[in-house]
Amino acid sequence: MRVTEVDAIPLAHELDEGRSFGHARGLTSRRSCVLVRAETADGTVGWGEALATPRTTAAAVDEVLAPMVEGIDPYEVETLVERTHAEAYNVAGGPVLQSALSAVDVALWDIIGKSVDEPVYRLLGGGDADHVVPYASTMYITEWEEDPADPIRDAVDEGFTAAKLKIGRGVEDDRRRVETARNLLGDDAHLMVDYNGNYRLKQAIRSVEALEPYDLTWIEEPVPPEDYTGLRKLTDRVDVPVATGESHFGRFDYGRLIRDHAVDIVQPDLGRAGGLSESRFLAKLATTENVAVYPHVWNGGVGVAAALQFAASLPSYPHNDNLPDPFLFEFDRSENPLREELITEPFDPSGGTLDVPQRPGLGVEVDEAAVERYRVD
Ligand SMILES: [Mg+2]
Repeated sequence: MRVTEVDAIPLAHELDEGRSFGHARGLTSRRSCVLVRAETADGTVGWGEALATPRTTAAAVDEVLAPMVEGIDPYEVETLVERTHAEAYNVAGGPVLQSALSAVDVALWDIIGKSVDEPVYRLLGGGDADHVVPYASTMYITEWEEDPADPIRDAVDEGFTAAKLKIGRGVEDDRRRVETARNLLGDDAHLMVDYNGNYRLKQAIRSVEALEPYDLTWIEEPVPPEDYTGLRKLTDRVDVPVATGESHFGRFDYGRLIRDHAVDIVQPDLGRAGGLSESRFLAKLATTENVAVYPHVWNGGVGVAAALQFAASLPSYPHNDNLPDPFLFEFDRSENPLREELITEPFDPSGGTLDVPQRPGLGVEVDEAAVERYRVD
Protein backbone atom coordinates (compact mmCIF):
# COMPACT_ATOMS: atom_id res chain seq x y z
CA MET A 1 0.00 0.00 0.00
CA ARG A 2 1.61 3.26 -1.17
CA VAL A 3 0.47 6.88 -0.90
CA THR A 4 -0.13 8.10 -4.43
CA GLU A 5 -1.60 11.55 -3.81
CA VAL A 6 -1.57 14.24 -1.11
CA ASP A 7 -3.75 17.30 -1.67
CA ALA A 8 -4.08 20.30 0.66
CA ILE A 9 -7.31 22.28 0.59
CA PRO A 10 -7.43 25.72 2.30
CA LEU A 11 -10.87 26.51 3.75
CA ALA A 12 -12.40 29.63 5.30
CA HIS A 13 -15.72 31.05 6.42
CA GLU A 14 -16.16 34.81 6.86
CA LEU A 15 -18.43 35.82 9.73
CA ASP A 16 -21.21 38.34 9.11
CA GLU A 17 -20.47 42.02 9.60
CA GLY A 18 -20.55 42.90 13.30
CA ARG A 19 -20.15 39.25 14.46
CA SER A 20 -16.42 39.19 15.14
CA PHE A 21 -15.53 37.52 18.40
CA GLY A 22 -12.51 36.24 20.25
CA HIS A 23 -10.48 36.71 23.39
CA ALA A 24 -8.52 39.21 25.45
CA ARG A 25 -5.90 39.76 22.76
CA GLY A 26 -8.19 40.27 19.80
CA LEU A 27 -11.22 39.34 17.73
CA THR A 28 -11.51 37.23 14.61
CA SER A 29 -13.86 37.69 11.68
CA ARG A 30 -13.22 34.31 10.05
CA ARG A 31 -12.97 30.60 10.77
CA SER A 32 -10.51 28.58 8.79
CA CYS A 33 -8.55 25.35 8.51
CA VAL A 34 -6.72 23.22 5.96
CA LEU A 35 -7.90 19.76 4.99
CA VAL A 36 -5.46 17.22 3.63
CA ARG A 37 -6.82 14.44 1.44
CA ALA A 38 -4.42 11.53 0.98
CA GLU A 39 -5.05 8.54 -1.25
CA THR A 40 -3.31 5.21 -1.69
CA ALA A 41 -2.86 3.09 -4.81
CA ASP A 42 -5.80 0.86 -3.80
CA GLY A 43 -8.12 3.89 -3.63
CA THR A 44 -8.28 4.26 0.17
CA VAL A 45 -8.77 7.92 1.11
CA GLY A 46 -7.78 9.51 4.41
CA TRP A 47 -8.47 13.00 5.74
CA GLY A 48 -6.61 15.23 8.17
CA GLU A 49 -6.94 18.84 9.28
CA ALA A 50 -4.58 21.64 10.26
CA LEU A 51 -5.81 24.51 12.45
CA ALA A 52 -3.67 27.20 10.87
CA THR A 53 -3.56 29.99 8.30
CA PRO A 54 -5.14 28.24 5.34
CA ARG A 55 -3.19 29.23 2.23
CA THR A 56 0.24 29.38 3.90
CA THR A 57 -0.23 25.98 5.48
CA ALA A 58 -1.61 24.41 2.31
CA ALA A 59 1.48 25.70 0.47
CA ALA A 60 3.72 24.05 3.08
CA VAL A 61 1.96 20.73 2.46
CA ASP A 62 2.39 21.13 -1.31
CA GLU A 63 6.00 22.30 -1.25
CA VAL A 64 7.54 20.32 1.59
CA LEU A 65 5.40 17.42 2.76
CA ALA A 66 3.64 16.04 -0.31
CA PRO A 67 6.97 15.22 -2.05
CA MET A 68 8.13 13.55 1.19
CA VAL A 69 4.98 11.46 1.62
CA GLU A 70 3.97 10.49 -1.90
CA GLY A 71 5.33 7.01 -2.55
CA ILE A 72 5.71 5.95 1.10
CA ASP A 73 3.75 3.26 2.91
CA PRO A 74 1.22 4.93 5.28
CA TYR A 75 2.65 2.77 8.10
CA GLU A 76 5.77 4.95 7.91
CA VAL A 77 3.68 7.79 9.39
CA GLU A 78 5.50 7.76 12.74
CA THR A 79 8.82 8.58 11.04
CA LEU A 80 7.58 11.84 9.55
CA VAL A 81 8.46 14.15 12.46
CA GLU A 82 12.08 13.00 12.37
CA ARG A 83 12.11 13.15 8.58
CA THR A 84 11.00 16.80 8.59
CA HIS A 85 13.78 17.64 11.05
CA ALA A 86 16.32 15.70 8.98
CA GLU A 87 15.28 16.63 5.46
CA ALA A 88 13.77 20.10 5.96
CA TYR A 89 15.45 21.22 9.15
CA ASN A 90 15.45 24.93 8.31
CA VAL A 91 11.66 25.01 8.38
CA ALA A 92 10.86 22.04 10.64
CA GLY A 93 9.11 22.28 13.98
CA GLY A 94 7.66 25.78 13.59
CA PRO A 95 3.96 26.69 13.49
CA VAL A 96 3.48 26.40 9.74
CA LEU A 97 5.23 23.13 8.99
CA GLN A 98 4.17 21.45 12.23
CA SER A 99 0.52 22.36 11.51
CA ALA A 100 0.86 21.10 7.94
CA LEU A 101 2.43 17.90 9.25
CA SER A 102 -0.50 17.48 11.66
CA ALA A 103 -2.97 17.27 8.79
CA VAL A 104 -0.81 14.85 6.78
CA ASP A 105 -0.19 12.62 9.80
CA VAL A 106 -3.89 12.42 10.68
CA ALA A 107 -4.81 11.62 7.06
CA LEU A 108 -2.35 8.68 7.06
CA TRP A 109 -3.75 7.35 10.34
CA ASP A 110 -7.25 7.61 8.84
CA ILE A 111 -6.04 5.48 5.91
CA ILE A 112 -4.45 2.89 8.23
CA GLY A 113 -7.63 2.64 10.31
CA LYS A 114 -9.78 2.19 7.24
CA SER A 115 -7.42 -0.41 5.78
CA VAL A 116 -7.58 -2.60 8.91
CA ASP A 117 -11.20 -1.74 9.74
CA GLU A 118 -10.48 -0.28 13.19
CA PRO A 119 -11.00 3.14 14.77
CA VAL A 120 -7.69 4.94 15.15
CA TYR A 121 -7.85 5.15 18.95
CA ARG A 122 -7.65 1.37 19.14
CA LEU A 123 -4.57 1.34 16.91
CA LEU A 124 -3.02 3.85 19.34
CA GLY A 125 -3.61 1.59 22.31
CA GLY A 126 -6.99 2.82 23.53
CA GLY A 127 -9.23 0.36 25.35
CA ASP A 128 -12.98 0.51 25.33
CA ALA A 129 -13.42 4.30 25.64
CA ASP A 130 -16.75 5.21 24.12
CA HIS A 131 -17.35 8.76 25.32
CA VAL A 132 -15.80 11.84 26.89
CA VAL A 133 -17.25 14.69 28.94
CA PRO A 134 -17.43 17.78 26.72
CA TYR A 135 -16.93 21.22 28.19
CA ALA A 136 -18.41 24.28 26.52
CA SER A 137 -15.73 26.65 25.28
CA THR A 138 -17.74 29.84 25.42
CA MET A 139 -18.34 33.34 26.83
CA TYR A 140 -16.12 34.89 24.18
CA ILE A 141 -15.28 38.56 23.93
CA THR A 142 -17.69 39.79 21.25
CA GLU A 143 -17.84 42.70 18.84
CA TRP A 144 -21.56 42.97 19.54
CA GLU A 145 -23.11 43.75 22.93
CA GLU A 146 -23.55 40.26 24.33
CA ASP A 147 -24.71 39.68 27.89
CA PRO A 148 -21.97 37.35 29.20
CA ALA A 149 -24.63 35.32 31.00
CA ASP A 150 -26.34 34.33 27.74
CA PRO A 151 -23.74 31.85 26.40
CA ILE A 152 -23.51 30.18 29.82
CA ARG A 153 -27.29 29.81 29.98
CA ASP A 154 -27.18 28.29 26.50
CA ALA A 155 -24.49 25.83 27.61
CA VAL A 156 -26.54 24.81 30.66
CA ASP A 157 -29.63 24.36 28.45
CA GLU A 158 -27.61 22.10 26.14
CA GLY A 159 -26.67 19.93 29.11
CA PHE A 160 -23.03 20.89 29.50
CA THR A 161 -21.68 20.23 32.98
CA ALA A 162 -18.42 22.13 32.45
CA ALA A 163 -17.34 25.32 30.72
CA LYS A 164 -14.36 27.47 29.87
CA LEU A 165 -14.64 31.21 29.42
CA LYS A 166 -12.51 34.05 28.12
CA ILE A 167 -11.00 36.51 30.58
CA GLY A 168 -7.82 38.59 30.71
CA ARG A 169 -9.02 42.19 30.39
CA GLY A 170 -8.37 43.31 33.95
CA VAL A 171 -8.84 41.72 37.35
CA GLU A 172 -12.29 43.15 38.16
CA ASP A 173 -13.66 42.18 34.74
CA ASP A 174 -12.18 38.68 35.26
CA ARG A 175 -13.92 38.39 38.63
CA ARG A 176 -17.30 39.53 37.28
CA ARG A 177 -17.22 37.13 34.33
CA VAL A 178 -16.19 34.15 36.45
CA GLU A 179 -18.79 34.97 39.11
CA THR A 180 -21.50 35.12 36.43
CA ALA A 181 -20.47 31.73 35.07
CA ARG A 182 -20.13 30.06 38.48
CA ASN A 183 -23.56 31.28 39.61
CA LEU A 184 -25.23 29.90 36.49
CA LEU A 185 -23.31 26.62 36.29
CA GLY A 186 -23.57 25.74 39.99
CA ASP A 187 -20.93 24.74 42.50
CA ASP A 188 -20.28 21.25 41.11
CA ALA A 189 -19.48 22.22 37.51
CA HIS A 190 -15.91 22.20 36.25
CA LEU A 191 -15.07 25.80 35.36
CA MET A 192 -11.95 26.90 33.49
CA VAL A 193 -10.69 30.29 32.30
CA ASP A 194 -8.55 31.29 29.34
CA TYR A 195 -6.41 34.45 29.35
CA ASN A 196 -5.00 33.81 25.87
CA GLY A 197 -1.65 35.01 27.14
CA ASN A 198 -2.73 38.60 27.79
CA TYR A 199 -1.11 39.19 31.19
CA ARG A 200 2.32 39.71 32.60
CA LEU A 201 3.27 37.51 35.53
CA LYS A 202 2.22 39.86 38.35
CA GLN A 203 -1.10 40.68 36.66
CA ALA A 204 -1.77 36.96 36.35
CA ILE A 205 -0.98 36.41 40.04
CA ARG A 206 -3.42 39.17 41.05
CA SER A 207 -6.13 37.71 38.85
CA VAL A 208 -5.63 34.19 40.19
CA GLU A 209 -5.85 35.49 43.76
CA ALA A 210 -9.11 37.34 42.96
CA LEU A 211 -10.57 34.18 41.38
CA GLU A 212 -9.68 31.85 44.22
CA PRO A 213 -13.25 31.71 45.67
CA TYR A 214 -14.62 30.33 42.39
CA ASP A 215 -12.84 26.96 42.48
CA LEU A 216 -11.38 26.87 38.98
CA THR A 217 -10.35 23.52 37.49
CA TRP A 218 -7.53 25.14 35.51
CA ILE A 219 -6.34 28.46 34.12
CA GLU A 220 -5.18 28.56 30.50
CA GLU A 221 -2.39 30.63 28.90
CA PRO A 222 -2.24 33.18 31.76
CA VAL A 223 0.92 34.68 30.25
CA PRO A 224 2.13 34.51 26.62
CA PRO A 225 3.05 31.01 25.43
CA GLU A 226 6.65 32.05 24.78
CA ASP A 227 7.07 33.24 28.40
CA TYR A 228 8.37 29.90 29.71
CA THR A 229 9.85 31.50 32.83
CA GLY A 230 6.60 33.30 33.64
CA LEU A 231 4.64 30.07 33.25
CA ARG A 232 7.02 28.20 35.54
CA LYS A 233 7.02 30.90 38.22
CA LEU A 234 3.23 31.09 38.18
CA THR A 235 2.89 27.31 38.32
CA ASP A 236 5.21 27.24 41.33
CA ARG A 237 3.31 30.00 43.08
CA VAL A 238 -0.43 29.28 42.68
CA ASP A 239 -2.58 26.33 43.71
CA VAL A 240 -4.82 26.30 40.64
CA PRO A 241 -3.45 24.12 37.81
CA VAL A 242 -1.88 26.06 34.95
CA ALA A 243 -2.44 24.87 31.36
CA THR A 244 -0.90 25.76 28.01
CA GLY A 245 -0.14 24.16 24.66
CA GLU A 246 -2.37 25.45 21.85
CA SER A 247 0.47 27.71 20.70
CA HIS A 248 3.27 25.20 21.21
CA PHE A 249 4.40 23.01 18.37
CA GLY A 250 5.89 19.58 18.69
CA ARG A 251 8.31 17.78 20.97
CA PHE A 252 10.92 20.51 21.40
CA ASP A 253 8.41 23.12 22.66
CA TYR A 254 6.62 20.53 24.76
CA GLY A 255 9.84 19.01 26.01
CA ARG A 256 10.77 22.34 27.55
CA LEU A 257 7.32 22.89 29.09
CA ILE A 258 7.31 19.40 30.56
CA ARG A 259 10.95 19.07 31.61
CA ASP A 260 10.87 22.40 33.47
CA HIS A 261 7.43 21.64 34.91
CA ALA A 262 6.42 25.05 33.54
CA VAL A 263 2.75 23.99 33.58
CA ASP A 264 0.53 21.38 35.23
CA ILE A 265 -1.43 20.58 32.05
CA VAL A 266 -0.34 20.46 28.41
CA GLN A 267 -2.90 20.94 25.66
CA PRO A 268 -1.77 19.65 22.26
CA ASP A 269 -4.00 20.66 19.36
CA LEU A 270 -4.29 17.76 16.91
CA GLY A 271 -4.17 20.26 14.06
CA ARG A 272 -0.96 21.96 15.19
CA ALA A 273 1.22 19.84 17.45
CA GLY A 274 2.18 17.31 14.77
CA GLY A 275 -0.93 15.14 14.53
CA LEU A 276 -1.74 11.87 16.25
CA SER A 277 1.80 10.43 16.16
CA GLU A 278 3.42 13.45 17.78
CA SER A 279 0.57 14.14 20.22
CA ARG A 280 0.80 10.57 21.49
CA PHE A 281 4.53 11.08 21.93
CA LEU A 282 3.88 14.34 23.83
CA ALA A 283 1.36 12.60 26.05
CA LYS A 284 3.91 9.95 26.97
CA LEU A 285 6.56 12.62 27.52
CA ALA A 286 4.13 14.35 29.90
CA THR A 287 4.00 11.25 32.10
CA THR A 288 7.74 11.67 32.79
CA GLU A 289 6.97 14.76 34.90
CA ASN A 290 3.44 13.79 35.96
CA VAL A 291 1.97 16.56 33.81
CA ALA A 292 -1.66 16.14 32.72
CA VAL A 293 -2.85 16.14 29.09
CA TYR A 294 -6.13 17.55 27.76
CA PRO A 295 -6.29 18.38 24.04
CA HIS A 296 -7.02 21.86 22.78
CA VAL A 297 -9.95 21.56 20.37
CA TRP A 298 -11.04 24.53 18.30
CA ASN A 299 -11.03 22.75 14.98
CA GLY A 300 -13.35 21.88 12.14
CA GLY A 301 -15.12 18.53 12.07
CA VAL A 302 -12.14 16.45 10.93
CA GLY A 303 -9.92 18.04 13.60
CA VAL A 304 -12.52 17.36 16.30
CA ALA A 305 -12.63 13.72 15.14
CA ALA A 306 -8.83 13.45 15.41
CA ALA A 307 -8.89 14.99 18.89
CA LEU A 308 -11.57 12.51 20.00
CA GLN A 309 -9.55 9.55 18.71
CA PHE A 310 -6.52 10.94 20.54
CA ALA A 311 -8.47 11.47 23.77
CA ALA A 312 -9.86 7.94 23.62
CA SER A 313 -6.37 6.51 23.15
CA LEU A 314 -4.92 8.02 26.33
CA PRO A 315 -4.25 5.67 29.23
CA SER A 316 -5.24 6.77 32.74
CA TYR A 317 -2.21 8.06 34.50
CA PRO A 318 -1.64 8.21 37.41
CA HIS A 319 -5.24 7.88 38.65
CA ASN A 320 -7.30 4.76 38.76
CA ASP A 321 -10.96 4.29 39.60
CA ASN A 322 -10.32 5.32 43.20
CA LEU A 323 -10.01 8.93 42.04
CA PRO A 324 -12.42 9.39 39.16
CA ASP A 325 -11.73 12.53 37.13
CA PRO A 326 -13.91 13.09 34.08
CA PHE A 327 -11.90 13.41 30.88
CA LEU A 328 -12.76 16.99 29.95
CA PHE A 329 -12.90 17.55 26.19
CA GLU A 330 -13.12 21.05 24.76
CA PHE A 331 -16.16 21.74 22.59
CA ASP A 332 -16.31 25.18 21.01
CA ARG A 333 -19.77 26.77 21.03
CA SER A 334 -18.97 29.68 18.71
CA GLU A 335 -20.02 29.97 15.08
CA ASN A 336 -18.06 27.62 12.85
CA PRO A 337 -19.75 25.86 9.92
CA LEU A 338 -16.44 24.05 9.27
CA ARG A 339 -17.14 22.12 12.48
CA GLU A 340 -20.69 21.17 11.54
CA GLU A 341 -20.76 20.97 7.75
CA LEU A 342 -17.49 19.32 6.68
CA ILE A 343 -18.55 15.96 8.09
CA THR A 344 -21.78 14.23 7.17
CA GLU A 345 -22.82 13.62 10.79
CA PRO A 346 -21.92 16.56 13.06
CA PHE A 347 -20.88 15.80 16.63
CA ASP A 348 -23.54 16.16 19.29
CA PRO A 349 -22.13 17.36 22.64
CA SER A 350 -25.56 17.88 24.24
CA GLY A 351 -26.57 16.07 27.39
CA GLY A 352 -23.12 16.28 28.95
CA THR A 353 -21.54 13.47 26.95
CA LEU A 354 -19.80 13.18 23.57
CA ASP A 355 -19.53 9.82 21.82
CA VAL A 356 -16.24 8.60 20.36
CA PRO A 357 -16.86 7.41 16.77
CA GLN A 358 -16.34 3.65 16.52
CA ARG A 359 -16.18 3.36 12.74
CA PRO A 360 -12.82 2.72 11.01
CA GLY A 361 -10.17 5.44 10.84
CA LEU A 362 -11.28 8.76 12.29
CA GLY A 363 -14.84 7.41 12.19
CA VAL A 364 -16.28 10.31 10.22
CA GLU A 365 -17.23 10.84 6.59
CA VAL A 366 -16.21 14.07 4.87
CA ASP A 367 -18.87 15.92 2.88
CA GLU A 368 -16.92 16.81 -0.27
CA ALA A 369 -19.63 19.20 -1.49
CA ALA A 370 -19.21 21.20 1.74
CA VAL A 371 -15.44 21.19 1.23
CA GLU A 372 -15.95 22.79 -2.19
CA ARG A 373 -18.25 25.47 -0.67
CA TYR A 374 -15.56 26.75 1.72
CA ARG A 375 -12.34 26.33 -0.25
CA VAL A 376 -10.34 29.52 -0.73
CA ASP A 377 -7.47 28.50 -3.02
MG1 LIG B 1 -7.18 28.68 24.70
